[in-house]
Amino acid sequence: MKNIKDYNLEELKQELINIGEKPFRAEQIFKWIYQEKVKDFDEMTNISLDLRKKLKENYTMCNYNILRKQESKDGTIKYLFDVLDGNAIESVLMSYHHGYSICVSSQIGCKMGCKFCASTGINFIRSLTSGEIVEQILAVEQDTGVRISNVVFMGIGEPLDNYENVVNAIRIINNPKGLNIGARHISVSTSGLVPKIYKLAEENIQCTLSISLHATNNEKRSSMMPVNNSYPIQELIQACKDYIEKTNRRISFEYALAKDNNDNLEDAKELVKLLKGMLCHVNLIPINKIENGAYSKSSNENIMKFRDYLNDHGIVATIRRELGSDIDAACGQLRRKNLK
Ligand code: SAH
Repeated sequence: MKNIKDYNLEELKQELINIGEKPFRAEQIFKWIYQEKVKDFDEMTNISLDLRKKLKENYTMCNYNILRKQESKDGTIKYLFDVLDGNAIESVLMSYHHGYSICVSSQIGCKMGCKFCASTGINFIRSLTSGEIVEQILAVEQDTGVRISNVVFMGIGEPLDNYENVVNAIRIINNPKGLNIGARHISVSTSGLVPKIYKLAEENIQCTLSISLHATNNEKRSSMMPVNNSYPIQELIQACKDYIEKTNRRISFEYALAKDNNDNLEDAKELVKLLKGMLCHVNLIPINKIENGAYSKSSNENIMKFRDYLNDHGIVATIRRELGSDIDAACGQLRRKNLK
């Protein structure tokens, strides 16, 4: 059966026309799902019994079951959701002074193979549909009663390897009649799929693009991230420059600091050279050690020196606050689970 949450508003209008209904019904249904956050067609009380019956015959609501919920001492909550096909994924709710932020997964597993990430090394199963992406937000809002104001595509998976579904999910999240979260409050993080960065620049979506850079020369970056063999740094930076020019949006570069690997001042110098003059911001992440991982966290002193060097040389850099590491909910600690 089709998942009703896989459709953006325009597509849902078409679906309704196809079953002989008026397109404005789509707006009513959208309102019930994304604003009233109902879990059942029967709760859509301004929709006729006949149409509700038709909807039930043709579509599911794809409500996730919560398999596990863990709460960190800093208030971060990690969910393990049953995606209804025998697999499970994780999503993380974080509380900031400016509101609630959710980190969503875009795939069941990941193909990218980054050496420092826990989502790697487990088989890739499949990409999530747009409804399955959006459902993470609805399920967390339904469970906690909070209103989520920021969405980051930094959970399991490579969002740009699931391009169409991620872009469609963003349209549903962003639509004023959908979840109504401003595009500037939506971030897509990529390990650097260059052709998809050029494509995203053409979408006319004002979301924030984050690039997982992590190293400043090809040898080091390829040793951490195999994707760099296909799309080396110079090509990646060129795509970023194009993105900035087309969208006028500032790019955020993520740089996970690993002790004795990419955290000394020489690396900071190279980073300044690489990013000089670009409309960008650097997000420094103290690397989270994963089971059997080769990399360990830099000292606080090194992290601060690194940040200060960048700031003193014209590159705006901040250190990402670490949230949820006591429940394995921090960057790079999410995994997919197999229920079978
Ligand atoms: N595939 C996408 C999004 C998922 S990861 C991407 O690569 O960007 C979200 C961020 O966490 C990325 O910047 C990723 O490189 C980073 N990350 C992964 N493992 C990490 C770890 N062990 N410690 C710190 N950051 C990590």
